[in-house]
Amino acid sequence: MSAAVAPPPLDRKFVESLVRESLYRQIGRPLPAKEPPLLVVNSSARHMHVSQKDLEVLFGPGYQLKVHKWLYQEGFFAAEETVTLIGPRRRIIPNLRILGPCRNLTQIELAYTDAIQLGLDIPTRLSGDIEGTPGAYVMGPAGMIELKQGVIRAARHVHMGPADIEYYGVKNGDRMKLRVVSPPNTVVFEDVIVRYDPNVRLEVHIDTDEANACNLSQAIKVELFR
Ligand SMILES: [Zn+2]
Repeated sequence: MSAAVAPPPLDRKFVESLVRESLYRQIGRPLPAKEPPLLVVNSSARHMHVSQKDLEVLFGPGYQLKVHKWLYQEGFFAAEETVTLIGPRRRIIPNLRILGPCRNLTQIELAYTDAIQLGLDIPTRLSGDIEGTPGAYVMGPAGMIELKQGVIRAARHVHMGPADIEYYGVKNGDRMKLRVVSPPNTVVFEDVIVRYDPNVRLEVHIDTDEANACNLSQAIKVELFR
């Protein structure tokens, strides 16, 4: 008498993954990331990016920025150094922090609330796009510079590396939506611009006005979608 031996039960998940892999191979596409990438949303307080040349006018010849606090993106930091921003009619913003390392262009990113207080009408721009924007005076311990242009409200954006671009199915310059679930102040932000760089970690940047509107620090969930 021969005993009937039942075949081992099929692992449904395993079979599904085999089918999926073979389908992706047939259509010649890379497998999508299995786990969603870690989505981090940070607010950028008002700050200044500075060229080495302007830094030396403000702080003295040969001056180098000192690290106050490392930021989420590798190699970037809030510097110990701060400056005073002087707007029209002598209204000022003291203790404006510099972010390092130095850049080619000096640029100041403010929230709208800051700009209103300062009496400046600032446009919303992507970082680096400062043609035709208002200027200001900036004072440091060693000297003052006159910025002819470069004061902006930074457009809300998301930094994405190659795996993030693949996961969300977007490209550089696309606009996405960000939902910040923070009852009773939940907000969906539109026009979140994708900024691709092969060497960044996934991170959304909004300014302090936006972060305050959705009470970001109390958020229980954040979602990025097309
Ligand atoms: Zn950013």
